[in-house]
Amino acid sequence: MATRRSLLGSTSSAIKSHNLRAILLILLWHQPVSRVRIARLTGLSTTTVTNLITELLAQGIVAEIGAEQLDEERGVGRPRVALRLVPEARYAVGVHIGVGHVRVAVTDLFARPLHLAEIEHSIDQPAEQVLQAIAALVGEAIAASGVHRAQILGVGVGASGLVDPARGVNVLAPNLGWRDIPIRDMLAGCCGLPVFVDNNVRAMALAEALFGAGKDVRVLAFVYARIGVGAGFILDGQLYRGGAGAGEIGHMTVVADGGEPCRCGNTGCLETLVSEPAIVRRAQALAVQQPDSLLVHAVSVPGNGSPIERLFAAARAGDPAALALLDERAAYMGIGLANLVNTLSPELIILGGIFAQGADLLLPTVKRTLRERAFAGLGERVLLRTPTFGQDAGVIGAAALALDAFFYEQTEGTF
Ligand SMILES: [Zn+2]
Repeated sequence: MATRRSLLGSTSSAIKSHNLRAILLILLWHQPVSRVRIARLTGLSTTTVTNLITELLAQGIVAEIGAEQLDEERGVGRPRVALRLVPEARYAVGVHIGVGHVRVAVTDLFARPLHLAEIEHSIDQPAEQVLQAIAALVGEAIAASGVHRAQILGVGVGASGLVDPARGVNVLAPNLGWRDIPIRDMLAGCCGLPVFVDNNVRAMALAEALFGAGKDVRVLAFVYARIGVGAGFILDGQLYRGGAGAGEIGHMTVVADGGEPCRCGNTGCLETLVSEPAIVRRAQALAVQQPDSLLVHAVSVPGNGSPIERLFAAARAGDPAALALLDERAAYMGIGLANLVNTLSPELIILGGIFAQGADLLLPTVKRTLRERAFAGLGERVLLRTPTFGQDAGVIGAAALALDAFFYEQTEGTF
């Protein structure tokens, strides 16, 4: 039988790791809970639960908080002792590598940031230099948070583009010009902590599943549209990694002939219609044709906010050209999501990036198109909502990678 290092002792069996994960997730999602209720919800025996809870209590990861706070069925029998996770028992660091900026957060076991830091970098800078700056920022953030390094489980890194999580390598990040960058090895050397690297949209999907709207959801799709369009999936309660390219939904073909060229080399990809640059480009083209519309002002005259924010403002002011453009692009996203629903039948789709920013303008049409296009009413059942963590989604997702790998997942590591 495979053995793994776990947070309880040197090695433990795969079964013990599996049972620990089940108990920790019940505590995370349903606390405060009694041992009996944990046993019922996990299907484990009360003896197994009691033994593992004893170890977790000894480690300071779980605390008994008395029976009176227990929000369970009451009445018959003696009162049960309520248990909860101690969020400050361990910590994690999340690193979100964006285009031109990096955000770092030190978080507790619930992925709640204690300390946030940010640096800008030029996209012309070599990856080695950016990673050195990240390592320094991680060190500073840990020091500023006041957390003891020994209590930190690891560093999670959300990188853009193609990532090989097993090797911790950013295989290809077109927006940064990075190719085969060994992020894990480069950061582990600097930080002296275990490092877990994955694609940033997959990381955000994981954060929603563990700590956000996706708690206890079996099949979830997280779709993020900004410069690119990508997706992360939770299947049967687990982050789906597939091959390195899982989730590249921005490159599904939506226009068979005559579509715009995509940076992937194809034409007519979803990304060429619904990404932020694509929508802004189209608005600029329309503005030339309709010189009297508010679009001209929105996309050609510098003002408050980015061009997409000014486009949203023009639509909110009732500009017909802006409204029609956004409606058309929302419908394309609806088609993309309908294809996703027909493939995976998720219970929940979380749509982030510019679609969250302009949710009031875009989501009604996305929803309607999804319902019209998905097979046999599957689109009626799926819930569509915006992300839980807003601006912090990237760093919280990155921290979730470390928390999941080391704490909730109980995989191999050292500390
Ligand atoms: Zn493409």
